[in-house]
Amino acid sequence: MNIQQSQIDIIAKIVAERLKSQDEVALSKGISSKSISTEGISKETVSSEGIFEDMDTAIEAAYQAQRTLFEKSLEFRKKITNAIKAELMLHVEELAMLAVKESGMGNVKDKIIKNTVAIEKTPSVEDLMSGVFTGDDGLTLLEYSPFGVIGAIAPSTNPSETVICNSIGMIAAGNAVVFCPHPGSYKTSNLAIKYINKAIKSVGGPANLVVTMLKPSMAAVETMMHHPLINMLCATGGPSVVKAVLESGKKAIGAGAGNPPVLVDETADIEKAARDIINGCSFDNNLPCIAEKEAIVVDEICDYLIFNMKQNGAYELTDKVLIQKLETLVFKSEGVLNREFVGKDAKYILDKIDISVGDEIKAIIMEADKDHPFVVEELMMPILPIVRVKDASEGIDLACKLEHGLRHTAMCHSKNIDVLTEMAHRIQTTIFVKNGPSYAGIGVGGEGFTTFTIAGPTGEGLTSAKSFTRRRRCVLVGGFNIK
Ligand code: NAD
Repeated sequence: MNIQQSQIDIIAKIVAERLKSQDEVALSKGISSKSISTEGISKETVSSEGIFEDMDTAIEAAYQAQRTLFEKSLEFRKKITNAIKAELMLHVEELAMLAVKESGMGNVKDKIIKNTVAIEKTPSVEDLMSGVFTGDDGLTLLEYSPFGVIGAIAPSTNPSETVICNSIGMIAAGNAVVFCPHPGSYKTSNLAIKYINKAIKSVGGPANLVVTMLKPSMAAVETMMHHPLINMLCATGGPSVVKAVLESGKKAIGAGAGNPPVLVDETADIEKAARDIINGCSFDNNLPCIAEKEAIVVDEICDYLIFNMKQNGAYELTDKVLIQKLETLVFKSEGVLNREFVGKDAKYILDKIDISVGDEIKAIIMEADKDHPFVVEELMMPILPIVRVKDASEGIDLACKLEHGLRHTAMCHSKNIDVLTEMAHRIQTTIFVKNGPSYAGIGVGGEGFTTFTIAGPTGEGLTSAKSFTRRRRCVLVGGFNIK
């Protein structure tokens, strides 16, 4: 499936209407959709739906579940992932609303899109395409086998999306999963885990293929990272958690932070570039690690780009005093974000500096120096600094510098093939989007499957089922070559 921008707009409209009518029904009953329970999981669901009070017990249960799964066919794994997709599709609104309420970040409309994409576009067993060598000496198969039990750490920015996406890929590959969700969004992650187990049970799959803790703790994460029954770790989050799993001594996938730059040169379709950039940088209030975090713009077309950004929901700050005020607000100290503003919408942030705007404002833009903290730090807020450069060549140099070697994501709007090629070659990001919004890179309006675990540091790239497998060779000597 290829979700185009027009389809995203339609989904967004339907979602807005559904949420409005839901609120109207709810209001008539004296409740609001904002009053949705943040409990998510009650104590009664413990262990029957993959939720445990003790990490050792959870891991042992997952180990037994993986042994059962390993004896079943690939077709059965497909049946399980299909059931997960069907069940979770029933709960995207609930999960999106709970995530916003619990974490205080992002917006429901975009989280519904993110959850829907995670369900529809995460590949299952079809990702495990075997390889083969045949010749005079016979036939050799290259096969993908499960690791066993995987310990997965999930972020607060995609609490259910990561759980859905990782679970489908890891189970398709024949593994069981032990999740350690973020303390600030664990109820949302646990609710997704509960529905996943319900789905697995509905098709006769093993209980506890996906497990977690009733309450998260660093002690539980430590236990998981060093437990002998955990064969692989997969961390999705900031630098500290990636470092922690890489130091664990286990096979680890690290999907870390980014600071994605977008370059616009004088050959670009400026109206489209402005629209794409504002849509991308305001998607889920800039929480996605792939979202545009700073724009680098060739001087010649910069004024016209800013004009068009303002036509597409950007509010421009030009007063240096206000920009300074905003900086003081969103940073607690040098390089340390004030979490209160992470994932908040533009209207909320502007209100705190006494600027009142309507709901049509999706992003805050301002011109900034290339060393400004808004430019060099990963803000995860719909604040987009714009840095002028004299030409594309200077822009590529700067983009490479601002990406900090994270090898995560970058965008370029240009019709000059040489510029597009040079930037893609030099910046070496896992995702490079040409002439589109950042989310096209994870299959939203762009070709290809989706993932919510983009492993730049450890090189798996956009993870899918085969990222969670061991490559094995099976050699038959002297036979089955029919050339
Ligand atoms: P975070 O790093 O604060 O938390 C992520 C997870 O790691 C949580 O479950 C947390 O409890 C755990 N954790 C944090 N420090 C740890 C440590 N030292 N040892 C063990 N566990 C630890 O991240 P967040 O704020 O929830 O998410 C935002 C960050 O994640 C951003 O930097 C974003 O770019 C990144 N991210 C990356 C990807 C990707 O695919 N590359 C996807 C989503 C988010």
